[in-house]
Amino acid sequence: MKELWGKALGIVRAQISQEGFSTWFAPIQCAGVVDGSLVLRIPNQFYAEWIGSHYQSVLMDALRSEGLAAGVDIAWSVDETIELDLIAPTPKVDAAPKPAERTSAPVVRNTSLNPKYDFETFVVGPANQLAHAASAAVGSAPGTRYNPLFIYGGVGLGKTHLMNAIGHRILIDRPKSQIFYLSAEQFTNEFIWALKNHTINDFRRRYRTDCDVLLMDDIQFLAGREQTQEEFFHTFNSLYHQDKQIVVTSDVYPHQIREMEERLISRFQSGLVADIQMPELDTRIAILHKKAEQETIRLRDDVALFLAQTVRSNVRELEGTLIRLAVKAELMNRQVDLELCKETMRVTMPAVDKATTVEDIQRAVCDYYGVRLSDLKGRRRHRNISFPRMVAMYLARQRVGSSFPDLGHRFGGKDHTTVINAVRKISRLVDEDESVRTAVDAIDRKLGL
Ligand code: ADP
Ligand code: MG
Repeated sequence: MKELWGKALGIVRAQISQEGFSTWFAPIQCAGVVDGSLVLRIPNQFYAEWIGSHYQSVLMDALRSEGLAAGVDIAWSVDETIELDLIAPTPKVDAAPKPAERTSAPVVRNTSLNPKYDFETFVVGPANQLAHAASAAVGSAPGTRYNPLFIYGGVGLGKTHLMNAIGHRILIDRPKSQIFYLSAEQFTNEFIWALKNHTINDFRRRYRTDCDVLLMDDIQFLAGREQTQEEFFHTFNSLYHQDKQIVVTSDVYPHQIREMEERLISRFQSGLVADIQMPELDTRIAILHKKAEQETIRLRDDVALFLAQTVRSNVRELEGTLIRLAVKAELMNRQVDLELCKETMRVTMPAVDKATTVEDIQRAVCDYYGVRLSDLKGRRRHRNISFPRMVAMYLARQRVGSSFPDLGHRFGGKDHTTVINAVRKISRLVDEDESVRTAVDAIDRKLGL
């Protein structure tokens, strides 16, 4: 069956774009035939939906032509332990269309996309997988299924990067698209300026008619700005009814944006809402390597591990630390090695060389909640125990980065799906529930940086 799958994949690969193949098919794992269905393991449910609506016939034809029996269907099975590697290279595109293709008005807006932020430079891991998959989907088929796309997450976690990547991707197939990428703050300023200068009709024509894709960054800026919200609401509706893609980012979940009109919030929620979290250890390491490669910094594995373990606030900070180290090394004519790292970081982070273990975390959590270690690793499901257990799993994943199956093992032989669910649940609660955030922060602080 695996052989059949391999051959069918070859046929699919020949028929669809390279990017489509590496995004949607490369991560799939064939688990053989179970109960009369060919079981295909995918990283998340989104894959089943996307493949079902875009590649169903290509895939089925390929499988049948390789001899999949007529009665055997596909069964998707979500396996969140599938780690998505760096996504495959995307062909580079020129932001501006070639002169020959140019319509009457030059594409001004497209230049506002940041050339550095494309899918090629974005590292995918469990924490940003959904947002990435959704962005890739929107990038290859704007204005269809996931409209609007709402991406939310804390600062420096890659929202702006993904949004720009969507813009670049759209321009590959549709080089003439008018892509408006701007922050909600810029939108506000332009709107106010248009009101003052009596050019509101131009403003509206630009945003409601000329624009093909609206990428609006940091929508939380509109909090409390009633008139701009009103304007944005109409812009939104107008684009939406023309099936033009809208992507919005925010630092919080739609409902948590302060002083935002209910009708706008419900518009945001009518499409796909995808969150983006702080990447866990192995993704942080991959990001560092990617960044080092881009900046031609020689980065040793031990240094990458050390930095990834030490800097856990956000990706921007992580990158910033790497760059600062590289600059310092150059100025002092030294290597970027562990010694330099520790010297540099000890100034701001006192306890850097004490690596935390899963056991340290379990103990700290037990202390905090007043439960016994044996209970934490045991089977009891009472909330007094199961909640601290979930918190410990979450912290262990964040800080030590062990794999889900390994963590299951260290928590007394739990299934990896139990760990995945725990990590998911606590990451959500850390966002949504003040008391959980406080507890997690307190334990985190106790463990030191
Ligand atoms: P946000 O808009 O969420 O505040 P940004 O998109 O500006 O964050 O990301 C901050 C920095 O971190 C950028 O330089 C971006 O390229 C980088 N970054 C964030 N996530 C990733 C990732 N998964 N892979 C590569 N770089 C990333
Ligand atoms: Mg941003």
